[in-house]
Amino acid sequence: MTKSYATRRRLSNRLIRISSGVILLSLLAIVVVFALYSNSQARQDLTNDLKVLSSVLGNRSIASLIFEDPRAAKRNLESTTFRDSIVSACIYRADGSLFADFIVQGSRHGCSEELSALEVYSWSEDSLLGVSAPIIDSGEQVGSIAIRASTDGIHESLRRALLTVTVAFSVIVFIALYLIKHLIVKALRPLTSLHDTALTISNDPYSKLRAKRAQDDEVGRLVQVFNNMLDTLDNENLALLSSEGRFRTLAENSPVGIYQMNADREFVYTNQRWHELTHMAPHCSRKEYLARVDSSDQEMLVSLVDKVQAKREAKVVEYHFQSPDGTNKLIFMEHIAPIFSQADESHEIVGFIGSLMDISDLKHAQMELENLAFYDPLTNLPNRRFFRDHLQYVMAGAKGDNSRLAIMMLDLDNFKKVNDTLGHDAGDELLSILGERLRGMVSQQDVVSRMGGDEFMILLKDVDIKSSIQRIADRVLQTVRRPMTIRDHDIEVSASIGIAIYPEDAANPEELIRNADLALYLSKESGRNRLSFFSRRLETLVNEKVYMERKLREAIKSDALSFYVQPQWSLHDGRLVSGEVLMRWIDPDEGFISPARFIPVAEEVGLILEMGEWLIDKVFESIASHRKQLELLGIRTLAINLSARQFFSSNLVLKIDNALKTYDIDPSMIELELTESAVMEDIEMAVHIMERLKALGCRLAIDDFGTGYSSLSYLKRFPIDSVKIDQSFISDIPKDQNDVEISAAIIAMGHNLGLEVVAEGVETQEQMDFLVRQQCDYAQGYMIAKPMPFEDIFENVTEINQRMAQQGSQIKRSAG
Ligand code: C2E
Ligand code: CA
Ligand code: CA
Repeated sequence: MTKSYATRRRLSNRLIRISSGVILLSLLAIVVVFALYSNSQARQDLTNDLKVLSSVLGNRSIASLIFEDPRAAKRNLESTTFRDSIVSACIYRADGSLFADFIVQGSRHGCSEELSALEVYSWSEDSLLGVSAPIIDSGEQVGSIAIRASTDGIHESLRRALLTVTVAFSVIVFIALYLIKHLIVKALRPLTSLHDTALTISNDPYSKLRAKRAQDDEVGRLVQVFNNMLDTLDNENLALLSSEGRFRTLAENSPVGIYQMNADREFVYTNQRWHELTHMAPHCSRKEYLARVDSSDQEMLVSLVDKVQAKREAKVVEYHFQSPDGTNKLIFMEHIAPIFSQADESHEIVGFIGSLMDISDLKHAQMELENLAFYDPLTNLPNRRFFRDHLQYVMAGAKGDNSRLAIMMLDLDNFKKVNDTLGHDAGDELLSILGERLRGMVSQQDVVSRMGGDEFMILLKDVDIKSSIQRIADRVLQTVRRPMTIRDHDIEVSASIGIAIYPEDAANPEELIRNADLALYLSKESGRNRLSFFSRRLETLVNEKVYMERKLREAIKSDALSFYVQPQWSLHDGRLVSGEVLMRWIDPDEGFISPARFIPVAEEVGLILEMGEWLIDKVFESIASHRKQLELLGIRTLAINLSARQFFSSNLVLKIDNALKTYDIDPSMIELELTESAVMEDIEMAVHIMERLKALGCRLAIDDFGTGYSSLSYLKRFPIDSVKIDQSFISDIPKDQNDVEISAAIIAMGHNLGLEVVAEGVETQEQMDFLVRQQCDYAQGYMIAKPMPFEDIFENVTEINQRMAQQGSQIKRSAG
């Protein structure tokens, strides 16, 4: 309040001081001008009076001068005493000598001894005015007169006048000042109130107080503008407050840590989450913070802030941060952005704002994912993806230094059996043992990876010659074969290996892997537990597969497929009782294409399903349309081959059931041939499907018996009716004693299990004799009949039966 009072005083005082100064100065000027004017006027008047007096006295003194009567002249002069101001009067002769004088008593100013005044003139000397004039008689100067008067009178009256004026003016000034002061205070009142209001508002920015507008004058309008300005400011303040509040709430409750640093890079704000993340004290310094950052990351973090400053743009950084107990490292992700000054155009950086996130879990998950992405969790070996990437890298290196490398693709031969019999856990254990063994037998620079399932890949670097690769591969095969004990079971597995070499076999990783795969395919095809190198010939074979597939698709579309039937002859009653259905393909270009060539392709590419369904329809339709003839000739069964894929396809049973019903066929008329290797793929499933087929009333046979994984114990579990001895055993009878024994054993064992036994590929009499002796049940082969179109059977049955009847007597003889 004192301040406002002082301020107010000062402003009005100044105004009063200025106005009083102005008034006083003007008064002073008036007084000075008045004094000067009065003074000169009074002097002028006195001079004129003296001139008149000197002329009168001169005239009166002419006679005295002529008659040399100084006393008369003196008397004459004494008459001047009527003028108080006159101090002396002097008359001079024509020669200038003093003639007569009159001097007021006590005056210091006498007459000079000589004066010759030729004309009237006046002068002034200190506090005196003087006039001298010639005394003329009849045109002739007879003397001169000089009169002096004191100016004291003038001064006195001037002083009095000045005094009066001064007093009068002083009164006026006093009154004027009084009025002015009141006027000023009154005029300043709105401004004062404006000032008070402004002062109150400046002390409380959110006050609703407004200045009063008294009049519609300049001040009134100023107050209005001021109030408007306050309203605007108030609104802006409100908007700012609410937005600031919003951001504060946001920052405080943010799930990420938020902080602000000033230009000196010291924290000026940190939110709750930031403290939770860092466990740092509320007012910690940046230095303390950096001390907790992993030493390897500190420099990077500091230089990043430099970069943010230099580039004037936000940056993101990840770094390790020591947890408060120092036991583990957290991984932080920090986003740092510059704060620009809003104050001026330069927009210099006045601080930094940052957000902080703990991405430790994310990072670990990412690392785990990477691990998962590149490593096989079961064996801890690199996985397929890693292998591909690595191979690419190593191949690039080999290209650079002209070295060679080899990849070995390894696939277990009978892994499925382990899974099926001992369970998947045992299978997993086997794979991890194998993984360890393989890893242990290659050098540090080589890579063993699990490509998935029971497939492994070995990358051998810097290999020189094929024989050395071969040696390693042989050792790998031996290592795989080494027995192992899993869950109290002694297990032996074997593997097949395909090998491809860079740069001979391929130019890029994909091709190299594909070619190793082809070589593996060859190993599998040629009997397993072996290794094969990729060759161009192999490639041709595979290309043939692609060619076959294309042609086969065309064949299906153009109905180029058909089937033949090969008769089966009963060794008990010497009659043709059944036949095997065999698919046929006569190609317009190539002629007859063997099923041995196209069935595996169809199987591999999945076309076999379509073809199988087509065949079932075709065969059933033929049976239905020849029902009578078949019955008459005593043909009881037709056997249809099923490949593994067909057998395990989900709708096989339904398809056959539907076809049986559609064509109204006695199910026992249909026999289904399954290969041994097919049913061994998944024994449980195979048994299940077989049981469902049996439930339909169909017969079941195991084809190519003796070639695959022969296990008599499984055979017992299968609900089958017969087994077919593979023709490879029959063809070398009687030369090969081994085959003779095997065939005899199969027949005996089959009978033991209550199964009928069919011998396939019977071409000679010796073979026939042998089979009769062994009491085999049926024979099928060129000796009896080649496969023929279905209708041809009816024409040939009688001929065949007769021919075989003659041999039958021989059979009986040889048997006997
Ligand atoms: P497979 O089931 O073992 O069929 C018997 C094969 O032996 C037939 O060959 C037959 O012509 C031939 N054969 C019969 N007797 C003799 C003989 O005395 N000497 C010789 N050397 N061979 C004889 P094919 O017709 O070429 O069939 C080959 C294979 O194709 C079949 O072997 C079978 O596995 C498959 N196959 C044929 N048709 C089909 C079919 O419709 N479906 C399925 N899934 N596979 C079929
Ligand atoms: Ca067959
Ligand atoms: Ca067969």
